[in-house]
Amino acid sequence: MMTQNRIMVVDSSAVSREIVARILRNTIEGAQVITCASGAEALAALAEGQYSLVTTSLRLSDMDGLDLCRHLRSSRKQHYTPVIVISGDADQRLLKAGFSAGVTDYFDKSLGYPAFGKFIKTFCQRNHGLVGRVLYIEDSRTAATMTMRILQKHGLQVCHVLSAEEGLERLQRMRAGEGESFDIVVTDLYLQSEMTGGDLLQALRNRLHYSQQELPVLMITGNDDIRTQVEAFHAGANDFVTKPLIEEVLMARMRSLLMIKHQYDALERQAQNMEQVASTDSLTGVRNRHYLLENGERLLQKAAGKGFWAMIVDIDFFKKINDNLGHLTGDHVLAAMGGLLNRQFPDAMVVRFGGEEFALLLSGSGREEVVQRGETLRAATEALQPEGVKVTVSIGIAGVEDHPGVDLNALIGLADKALYAAKEGGRNQVRLTLGNDAIHPAITATASV
Ligand code: GH3
Ligand code: MG
Ligand code: MG
Ligand code: MG
Repeated sequence: MMTQNRIMVVDSSAVSREIVARILRNTIEGAQVITCASGAEALAALAEGQYSLVTTSLRLSDMDGLDLCRHLRSSRKQHYTPVIVISGDADQRLLKAGFSAGVTDYFDKSLGYPAFGKFIKTFCQRNHGLVGRVLYIEDSRTAATMTMRILQKHGLQVCHVLSAEEGLERLQRMRAGEGESFDIVVTDLYLQSEMTGGDLLQALRNRLHYSQQELPVLMITGNDDIRTQVEAFHAGANDFVTKPLIEEVLMARMRSLLMIKHQYDALERQAQNMEQVASTDSLTGVRNRHYLLENGERLLQKAAGKGFWAMIVDIDFFKKINDNLGHLTGDHVLAAMGGLLNRQFPDAMVVRFGGEEFALLLSGSGREEVVQRGETLRAATEALQPEGVKVTVSIGIAGVEDHPGVDLNALIGLADKALYAAKEGGRNQVRLTLGNDAIHPAITATASV
């Protein structure tokens, strides 16, 4: 794991040492590079402290690079430290004996040092510390204890349950947005209880609709029967490991599956960000008109005629603010207005409908409440004085319960009529249209002007 980024460079050539050290410093953020000229020096330094990466040349003045590697693998403390052998002649010996000696990777120096920079970059991406929450289903406590020790040692958080039923319950809660969330599921195929690991897998893929990217599953099978493995893949497992578990194999599988999951999450986040940016008005921070057109009608249909309101908020004499104080001040006023609306109506769809005109869609309120909230907004705007500018708004409201069967367009049109009446009535006031579509004398909700 590349956690603390303490890196050891072992090479008998002072020039090579310095070049490698410089590349590492330039490539790995916060890298603290220690150089050693001999095997003995390296061993002494290793006895002193932990390293997150060791690079060594194959031939050292006093030792074989592979022996240094073997030494690391046999030490308790540095057992997992990745070792990269940098060799001028990636010879047969390295290819044959390197990996059994515990070499993590090797770099052929004849490719040149610029290539080494790239190599290190990809190496680090592949070998960074593991992060993730594991849901682990295993009915044998002994097996579970051993596996958990491995997973936790590598930095993973593990939640262990003893049955597929219990596992499924956790996943159902996660699907509902409750309880803990997991990045990966590791399950034993054979379980004592009614449900097997295979059943759990079926349920989470087909019933909870978790894709292999959103929630990878690593299956543990008791044998290497090819039919069992094929079945596991058919049921939607990403991969499998056989018992007895071999730490290196288990962790290699975990690493690649977690990478899939993290990439999925990153893409999701990116998509959400893009959606957010595309649907938000950048000046005021409220939704844009496009968003209203895409989602407004659906919101109205969902409310099914009950307590659905459109509110149009229009800044009074805004043109004068622009003319007298400048367009920039006008922009500040609009931004402040957007902020106020977002704060006062976190439960509503707040939209910049036109230049200095906002539309709000509210569901689930009664008439009195909506009128009261309109009035509270009117008063708050009067008190706001952004940039020291006195600002007021006129507000028009219309609700589906007073105009049954209207679509969104018509409802906004009705709210606009109420707004017009508020302007006519002297501005800085709230009006509401009542009745069957006819133009009613809008009622003044609360005293104003
Ligand atoms: P009323 O009380 O009748 O609503 O008068 P008003 O001046 O507010 O209305 P009018 O529709 O005549 O003027 C709206 C002005 O809003 C005109 C336009 O230049 C300005 N405006 C529209 N978008 C922006 C913007 O993004 N920034 C600024 N600063 N001004 C804008
Ligand atoms: Mg079992
Ligand atoms: Mg206006
Ligand atoms: Mg206007």
